[in-house]
Amino acid sequence: MTSSAWRTGHRGGTCASCEVPLEPGATAISALFESASRDDEPFARHDFCAACFDGAVDVGSPFSWWRYEVARPDEKKAAFDLDIAREFLLRLLQEAAPDRASLRYLLALLLMRKRIVRVTEQFVDERGEVMSVRLPPDEAIHELVCPAIDEAEAAALRDQIGRLFDLGDGS
Ligand SMILES: [Zn+2]
Repeated sequence: MTSSAWRTGHRGGTCASCEVPLEPGATAISALFESASRDDEPFARHDFCAACFDGAVDVGSPFSWWRYEVARPDEKKAAFDLDIAREFLLRLLQEAAPDRASLRYLLALLLMRKRIVRVTEQFVDERGEVMSVRLPPDEAIHELVCPAIDEAEAAALRDQIGRLFDLGDGS
């Protein structure tokens, strides 16, 4: 699947608002927005120049965002996507919306493989299987209830995560 047209903020990208090119070394912001409909594509990702995001225009209310320096063409961008994914997961953990339990859980599993999320404890209580996780260097512990996810839902969510973040899984 090719998704480069979908993402606006990657290398050679432009500000989603004023369309100024996001040049290497410039500060830009990658923001995740909740869609009006949660059904098929609950989140969309847009990148902005600092001038637009910091008040020149009304960009709306992002769910989470990450400020970054636009990479030079020879720099790897994997770490950059991990930062944005980490911030997104933190926001999902804080929000704790029941209808996003599966998205939260699958993103956390993915970020465990990238060593962004550490499991500090696992136990079972009335909610089912629970993992206590930490996102170093943060000390805060978050509880993650393991939801029942069927394979079709898991595939759709992994697909969505793959469209939002290029985490180097070939997804
Ligand atoms: Zn702009």
